[in-house]
Amino acid sequence: MLISIRLRTENRNDTHLKPAGDQMNSRTSIDVLVLGAGPSALAIASALVEEKLHVEVLSSNDHQDPWPYTYGIWGEEVDEFGLGHLLEHRWTNTVSFFGLGSLEPKSEENLPRNHTCDYGLFDKKKLQQHWIHQCEKASVNWHRGIASDIEIDGLTSTVTTAEGRKINARLVIDATGYKPVFLKAPYSGPVAIQTCYGVVGKFNKPPVEKGQFVLMDYRSDHLSKEERKEPPTFLYAMDLGNNTFFLEETSLGLFPPLTLEKLQARLQRRLAHRGLSITHLEHEEHGLFLPMNMPLPDMKQPLLGFGGAAAMVHPASGYMVGGLLRRAPSVAKAISLAMQDKSASSAFIAKKGWSALWPKDLRRKQALYHFGLEKLMRFQESQLRDFFTGFFDLPKEQWFGFLTNTLSLQDLVKAMWTMFLKAPWSVRLGLMGMQGRELRLLWQFVKPLN
Ligand SMILES: Cc1cc2nc3c(=O)[nH]c(=O)nc-3n(C[C@H](O)[C@H](O)[C@H](O)COP(=O)(O)OP(=O)(O)OC[C@H]3O[C@@H](n4cnc5c(N)ncnc54)[C@H](O)[C@@H]3O)c2cc1C
Repeated sequence: MLISIRLRTENRNDTHLKPAGDQMNSRTSIDVLVLGAGPSALAIASALVEEKLHVEVLSSNDHQDPWPYTYGIWGEEVDEFGLGHLLEHRWTNTVSFFGLGSLEPKSEENLPRNHTCDYGLFDKKKLQQHWIHQCEKASVNWHRGIASDIEIDGLTSTVTTAEGRKINARLVIDATGYKPVFLKAPYSGPVAIQTCYGVVGKFNKPPVEKGQFVLMDYRSDHLSKEERKEPPTFLYAMDLGNNTFFLEETSLGLFPPLTLEKLQARLQRRLAHRGLSITHLEHEEHGLFLPMNMPLPDMKQPLLGFGGAAAMVHPASGYMVGGLLRRAPSVAKAISLAMQDKSASSAFIAKKGWSALWPKDLRRKQALYHFGLEKLMRFQESQLRDFFTGFFDLPKEQWFGFLTNTLSLQDLVKAMWTMFLKAPWSVRLGLMGMQGRELRLLWQFVKPLN
């Protein structure tokens, strides 16, 4: 089927279907135009050049600009890709604190749960250069400009920049992040937002053990009984070496999101309660918002999405880099195969890309993850602590596979079912009662969207 579609950023509903016209025959030498220069754009561009496709990248910023965030990943996951050398830090002493789940803190609350699994932080410059190097080996052209209009007409997709420049390609991939410039997704209710407030600095005494990484510290003895009934937050913390620590007060995901002022106040209370004070503040992170359960994009669109734009962030953890590395090669392969047919339209190639990016089983898993997040958002602090205690009691391959989205659909269901059976009644009851969009999400597990 040949379709022509035109989208403008000023009015995302400005979509005109018109019969395939003259541009049908206008061939282009560019196979894929990737929009964006964040981790997602570079990951997919690198995978596409591995397939010997002619790729160009258009981004509103310089592709060499430093990325704003730091990216964490499990050690075994990064090793699977052979990219351990791109880590700036790697911890073996990785723990969490979930306490007893009781509203009355007890001494055992201070016992850490050892994850027996390394955790790493990417050297973000190295990760960026790794992908840029792959692209430059294949002479990728970097364009600077704000994509503002797209016209997809049979064999050719034409992106126009705000400056009026036009670039033609056989396929456009929108990797412009959580507010994608062209991609559309159906509305499926409010999006849960993870918020965090963090500090990097030196302290009067070590806030975590030397050489330690803390994934989640849910201890809340610094809060009053009443405050512990408010939406829970946890501390994500690590020793960066040289007497420097990174501490981040985090709200897992909530709508409306927890305010940064609240998170900052919680962190200050936490520190004061443990007799900690910052002696040298190197960096303060505020204003970080991460959408956790974005709906899957409409996969009938004749352009493809990748990364934050295409709802690839893991709804349980907020992580994505592992997923980018894992999924980019198969998506690139599908695009390359589709492009072997020189008469294949942009819409046809995009369709093949979407099927590789979001196959049915992954869509079903996504519905389950969204369902799980919905439940967690309703949990009170004591339930959450019980939940995570049970979660990390699962065999490591189950919780690790859950967090990295590497379990098969069957194994994911098995892990969730085991978790349910082992959970205390407070958690089980919370998991059973259906509220809001939970039933709809379960139905999407049975009959996935798109
Ligand atoms: C605070 C925070 C912490 C995170 N921590 C982790 C972590 O520890 N581990 C992990 O795996 N993931 C993490 N993530 C999730 C995810 O990996 C990041 O959000 C990641 O930056 C998303 O990459 P992206 O390339 O999809 O989008 P972005 O990084 O937002 O990049 C979008 C790109 O598109 C460009 N662009 C935008 N509009 C246009 C336009 N109109 N025309 C041309 N270009 C355009 C931008 O300039 C930019 O280059 C975190 C996210 C957040 C918000």
